[in-house]
Amino acid sequence: MSDIALLPQVEAFLRRDHGLFIDGHYVPSQSSQTLEVINPATGKVIATVIDAQAADIELAVASARHGFKQWSQTAPAVRGNVLLKLADLLEQNREELAQIETCQSGKIIQISRAFEVDQAAHFLRYYAGWATKISGQTLTPSLPSFAGERYTAFTLREPVGVVVGIVPWNFSTMIAIWKLASALVTGCSIIIKPSEFTPLTLLRIAELAVQAGLPAGVLNVLTGGGQVGKGLIEHPGTDKVSFTGSVPTGIAVGRAAMGAGLTRATLELGGKNAAAFLRDVPLETAVNGIIEAGFLHSGQICAAAERFFVHRSQINPVMEALAQRLSALNIGSPLDERTEFGPVTHRQHQAKLEGFFATARAENNTIIYGGQPMDRPGCYVEPTVILANSINDTLLTEETFGPIATFLPYDDEDELLALMNHTAGGLSASLWTNDLGKALRMVPAINAGTVWVNMHTLLDPAVPFGGNKSSGIGREFGNAFIEDYTELKSVMMRY
Ligand code: NAD
Repeated sequence: MSDIALLPQVEAFLRRDHGLFIDGHYVPSQSSQTLEVINPATGKVIATVIDAQAADIELAVASARHGFKQWSQTAPAVRGNVLLKLADLLEQNREELAQIETCQSGKIIQISRAFEVDQAAHFLRYYAGWATKISGQTLTPSLPSFAGERYTAFTLREPVGVVVGIVPWNFSTMIAIWKLASALVTGCSIIIKPSEFTPLTLLRIAELAVQAGLPAGVLNVLTGGGQVGKGLIEHPGTDKVSFTGSVPTGIAVGRAAMGAGLTRATLELGGKNAAAFLRDVPLETAVNGIIEAGFLHSGQICAAAERFFVHRSQINPVMEALAQRLSALNIGSPLDERTEFGPVTHRQHQAKLEGFFATARAENNTIIYGGQPMDRPGCYVEPTVILANSINDTLLTEETFGPIATFLPYDDEDELLALMNHTAGGLSASLWTNDLGKALRMVPAINAGTVWVNMHTLLDPAVPFGGNKSSGIGREFGNAFIEDYTELKSVMMRY
């Protein structure tokens, strides 16, 4: 087992004196506050970025307002072309971006390449197509004429203005690209605040955006902690926040946005997603499905399943076969191409997961496999399988956001639906069965923004994605994002 060599340009990028990306170039901060970026596979500091302060926020908002003025007047086809060029540049710099991402997040290199670069480019191209297809409607007003006058009306879709994009650490590039692409095709400018744990890849992408022809100020990147996001939302010069992160922060973001004069807010939050296996599913299919649903990127995926429901007659064989498969996983350095399971992204998250292991024991859950931090440098925890006692146990109610699959048996399908819906959130769910008629009858009874059948976690830009209940407000992808990034203006005329 050995790590791939870092490209010289990656080494050089990490060594840089990172500024804030404002108005098309790096600028030094107005203050000296900094944050260290730590490689979770080694525990070592790999870069230092600025923790932006109020004066930096002022500068970024002024630049984004200026950028918005220009960009909102740019022809839609030109806007689409910039996104297409950016997609090409992501691919041309694929290995560099993937390596930076793996160094900052611990994501295994294959996932960085496939999702943070290839998928991000695919999303950019999908959104680019929308640039020329956003339009209003012509309408016939309904009231009768009073004295022979006539009426006509039409609607315009206008960009909402300066968007604040706030991004978590799990897919720091792809999620930032979703927000960037939505803003740019609708004619908005955007200021993105990456997670304090994973700020680096986006700084490099901002440079590529300028190379792709994006005018100065249309994309600004402000690194720093939560207070930077809060300051941006509360600034009177910003018009909308698109937030992806945890439920508690999402609620604080929603409150701040409403308090800042009803700033528009879309919230993509966490959940406690279910994967349910009907009795007809073969053992091997079930185990493959559980690995896909719960263990990709060490479970650090918002849409991943954490609650697994298996028929009582099959639950023991399924958990035993799963434990056997997990014991054969190649666990190691994320820069080794053979690694299948790497570290979690930061030390605080590792500690939180260890807390969940302790809680499971305290609540007398059965740890079928794993349940320990790993005895090696970096932020590693064991892939874990737990059998709970009740649907109200902590491991079945609180989002762990880690590689922990918690199981509960069910006896019949009515009970199964009740168990699946017994959660505050409603981001995603999956049903596994060969009986598609049964699946289609069950789908309407599942309270989740996305229900997958015989698959889990795969996001497609053509298919809207977002959460029910406490998992959020609004939808990304498809044409659903247009509503959130534009205002509808009605124009009515008498003649
Ligand atoms: P988090 O809520 O802690 O942080 C998210 C971002 O918000 C970070 O950039 C952080 O600096 C910023 N922030 C913190 N306090 C803020 C405040 N008061 N105002 C404005 N911004 C603030 O989430 P995280 O730990 O980075 O990410 C993990 C969470 O994200 C999980 O709950 C996961 O389910 C969720 N998530 C959801 C989706 C989705 O599409 N629904 C996708 C990925 C992750």
